Amino acid sequence: MEPIFRKTVKNTIRLQGLGLHSGKTVNLTIHPSESGSGIQFLHTTPNKKTIIPVHVDQVIDTGNAVTLGQDGVKIQTIEHLMAALHTLGITDAILEIDSHEVPIMDGSSLPFLEAIIATGSLSFRDQIEPIKISNPIWVVEGDKYLVLLPSDELKVTYNIDFNHPLLRGQTLTTSLDQNTLLNEILPARTFGFLKDVEYLQSRGLALGGSLDNAVVLTEDGYLNDELRFENECIRHKVLDLIGDLAVLGRPFTGHLIASKAGHGLDISLAKCILEQEKANEFSKYKDYRSNSNSKNWNQKRA
Ligand SMILES: [Zn+2]
Repeated sequence: MEPIFRKTVKNTIRLQGLGLHSGKTVNLTIHPSESGSGIQFLHTTPNKKTIIPVHVDQVIDTGNAVTLGQDGVKIQTIEHLMAALHTLGITDAILEIDSHEVPIMDGSSLPFLEAIIATGSLSFRDQIEPIKISNPIWVVEGDKYLVLLPSDELKVTYNIDFNHPLLRGQTLTTSLDQNTLLNEILPARTFGFLKDVEYLQSRGLALGGSLDNAVVLTEDGYLNDELRFENECIRHKVLDLIGDLAVLGRPFTGHLIASKAGHGLDISLAKCILEQEKANEFSKYKDYRSNSNSKNWNQKRA
């Protein structure tokens, strides 16, 4: 496998958009960062700054989106931004934000991608080691599941089955190389059902949601005039999966097989991936120890 080098953004990137739930304007500034520092949120208020590293251990909620938390501060809906950073191979950056939610932009990863590509990236000399998936890993919850099989390339088979005439029993199988992600997956917008949107808004949520940043489904069709892809919703599920697994902070390959999965299962899988890797590291260490012990023993005997 080709070596993969750590990367940051070349210059500071300023973005502004609406918080999906608050409906308020959010300022997001992506700063270059040092090699090895990882991706970190910097939550700022006039009198407090809080750093929240993007890591699976910081995930405090997976309800409608992935939420990170630290010292009582939370940042939600990180996944569309994380999908963009991960796909472009950005390993180190500071994401300064003045709200508890990442701006929804157009509901996809495209505005983040375009901004980062326009600014450019800077490669470090340090390599980042991909996570090696040596055995199948899976998480199951009722009739929902998410599996990761070892494979030298990243690919997905995704199944959705919503109680809606347009989203019943759909499957998408595709390679997830960088080109496919950039052109076929990351432009897909988030989606919601009109009845849920009305309910959420009556409770003071999804106040920033509109046809400008979501595909909205009516009883039997779409409220939007145009879709970006005929199967935009399932593509967005794949986007979410990639963005959610980006909390691993490292590249990986494998065949992802998902059925009716969502943020909760995605994050559970990320935890299992790290556990498997820790176990592999431990057994390598054990092998090393037992090899060196037996050598000593043989030497003593000789
Ligand atoms: Zn999403």
